[in-house]
Amino acid sequence: MSIEVKNLSYVYMKGTPFERKALEDINIKIDKGEFVGIIGHTGSGKSTLVQHFNGLLKPTTGKVIVNGMDTSGKGLKELRRQVGIVFQYPEHQLFEETVYKDIVFGLKKLGIEGGTMDERIYSTLEIVGLDRSILYKSPFELSGGQKRRVAIAGVLVMEPEIIVLDEPAAGLDPSGRNEIFNFIKKLYMNCKVTVIIVSHNMEEIARLVNRVIVINKGRVEMDGPVKEIFRNTKKLESIGLSAPQVTYLMKELKKIFPGIDDNIHTVEEAKAEILRLLGRRGGDARA
Ligand code: ADP
Ligand code: MG
Repeated sequence: MSIEVKNLSYVYMKGTPFERKALEDINIKIDKGEFVGIIGHTGSGKSTLVQHFNGLLKPTTGKVIVNGMDTSGKGLKELRRQVGIVFQYPEHQLFEETVYKDIVFGLKKLGIEGGTMDERIYSTLEIVGLDRSILYKSPFELSGGQKRRVAIAGVLVMEPEIIVLDEPAAGLDPSGRNEIFNFIKKLYMNCKVTVIIVSHNMEEIARLVNRVIVINKGRVEMDGPVKEIFRNTKKLESIGLSAPQVTYLMKELKKIFPGIDDNIHTVEEAKAEILRLLGRRGGDARA
């Protein structure tokens, strides 16, 4: 199942004095099984873009084709199940008296009920790392990170083939963020889904995805493998973004140790590269 975006432009409140162009001539194709990060400034159009992926927003001009289906057409119910979108601060949409009811809300709307439902719920809880005992609690008794995971579970339980997460860790503390990113990584590795994640945290993007799409002022500014995008620090900086902090550290180190690889974007990779360098020098010293 792929997403094809062709010459997509989107204007909010078209034809009113408040008209605002949010997307301009976007062309991208996301294939089945990709793990894509979408980055860009606040207001660059990331959320507007991803809401086109399940037909929630319709192009002002251009086309969005998902699984061969034009999202401007009718019959989007199945598409809504196939493409699950977790919005920013999804816990704001929890409103039932129990976690159970909140998680099944979307399933029921799709007409999925009965025996298979509970099994799906249990396996989803396992993915997001929540205990079954949480099901009969009120969402309002939970911590921020737990609420967020319940809200995400409500989307995952529909077993979408494409999962879009818009700033999934925004506003959480470091341990809450880690939990979220760990299970997103597991989800991608174990469930054969396509994952699209919107974030403005470069460290997280570098750790997770294979491909990065950079949006700037409603346009696609860069699109490529994570290593290619973050290597180009000058271009990122020219639009007010940056590479992960550790990339800059490696660039500094390269001034002293020309043999070091500075096209590095995660702390893990940096550690391995620094140890490699130290090991070699240690070896040299003993020789
Ligand atoms: P991002 O997710 O990258 O922060 P958005 O897609 O939310 O960006 O917004 C893109 C542009 O569209 C911004 O200029 C924003 O102010 C405008 N915008 C977003 N939502 C609406 C809306 N519901 N009505 C009018 N303008 C909007
Ligand atoms: Mg947004």
